[in-house]
Amino acid sequence: MKNKALFPGSFDPFTVGHESIVKRALPLFDELVIGIGLNHDKNKYFPLEKRVEWIKKLFEHEHKLSVHVYEGLTVDFCKKINARYLLRGLRTSADFEYERAVGQTNKVLNSGIETIFLLTRPEHTFISSSIVKNVYKNGGDISKFIPEGIKIDV
Ligand code: ADP
Repeated sequence: MKNKALFPGSFDPFTVGHESIVKRALPLFDELVIGIGLNHDKNKYFPLEKRVEWIKKLFEHEHKLSVHVYEGLTVDFCKKINARYLLRGLRTSADFEYERAVGQTNKVLNSGIETIFLLTRPEHTFISSSIVKNVYKNGGDISKFIPEGIKIDV
């Protein structure tokens, strides 16, 4: 059985923090699926199709990686795609408390799935999609927070 992981999120937008987690996780798994969860879509701003397109383009040469949109419970989507691992990034103790509750809930919902956490690189700790989104909405330059391979064109 292949070691397959799902990296779920809203990626609104996909930041250098997300990119770093993905690049560091790729050597750990046989397959990595980036899942844009419609249930994660709190205050979404960038169009779903654009978010999918940007991430696909960024990793177009990465044969282990694919991008999918899903609805419903993350553990149900894991089961559907045969992913045994759920990947999440940890920035702060606030992230930890939230992720602990979600991870433990997921463990009750499906005990076969393990949540794996990667600590953010120190220089990415302050980067969040919601802040980047706010800077963008107010006309600020977000290029330093977005992977070089992504051109925000909306
Ligand atoms: P969600 O709505 O599920 O929180 P996000 O798109 O905000 O989705 O984040 C997806 C995952 O990426 C989460 O595990 C989050 O902790 C992680 N993440 C977000 N920003 C960073 C960052 N700057 N460095 C590392 N991980 C991050």
